[in-house]
Amino acid sequence: MPSNPSKANSRSGPRILMAEDNAINQRVGQLMLRKAGFDIDLVADGSEAVEAHRLQPYDLILMDCQMPIMDGFEASSLIRKMEGAAQPVIVAVTANALVGERERCLRAGMDDYLSKPFLAEQLVALVEKWTGKRTSAAAV
Ligand SMILES: [Mg+2]
Repeated sequence: MPSNPSKANSRSGPRILMAEDNAINQRVGQLMLRKAGFDIDLVADGSEAVEAHRLQPYDLILMDCQMPIMDGFEASSLIRKMEGAAQPVIVAVTANALVGERERCLRAGMDDYLSKPFLAEQLVALVEKWTGKRTSAAAV
């Protein structure tokens, strides 16, 4: 097989995808995680998340629930129905503090839940928990 020239091959850390339609939120999340030593890929809606995972499976997907085109609930359900694909951990990220929102995320097949706005420490702790990895940058 030819070697894959994609940038993922040069990475040593877990494969992490953030699906988030707001460009500022994307950038903030990316910077928070980069500072802790995690490199992430970005997509802007649920259908892009499904496609990205289908092409090259992720270990962890940070899934905004409210996105245009396809929301995080539908994207998570589709990923959970994928045959033969490695299943990622999916963490719901939502600004909705509605009663029952957490249950709705779990029903859609998501594993955990993070509400916006969040602190860098909260995001990093969650990524470390689910990837089982502490980067050298974050190590004591
Ligand atoms: Mg959104």
